[in-house]
Parts: sequence; structure tokens; C-alpha cells
Amino acid sequence: MSEKACSNCHFLTREHTCPKCKSRSLSEDYGGLVVLFDVENSAIAKAMDAKDKGRYVLKVR
Ligand SMILES: [Zn+2]
Repeated sequence: MSEKACSNCHFLTREHTCPKCKSRSLSEDYGGLVVLFDVENSAIAKAMDAKDKGRYVLKVR
């Protein structure tokens, strides 16, 4: 099963619901994978409003 991106918080998951925000709005059509390790000091994390480390996508269509 392929991974899907949450259209709400952009978290990448294999679940049917987003483990971060519990949204069921997941899409297989996304672009720009970002892996966040250091959320505290990451400009990308701030821009995306990401609170936890993990894998995110930049765009969900
Ligand atoms: Zn989410």
C-alpha cells in the first residue's frame, strides 16, 4: 500500500486517518517530500507549522 499525504497538515502516512490531526482527508497526489528532524530550528517546519519530526510533503493536490 502506498503512502498518502494528509491534506490538512501534510503529514505522510500509511494509515487511513492522519495520526497527527485525525483528518480522513488523505491524498495520493502530492509533491515535494520533506523529512524534518529538528523541528525547533527548521525554517521549513515553521513555515509548515509542523510540531513533530517526521515526513511531510510540501504540496497536496
Ligand atoms: Zn493531518
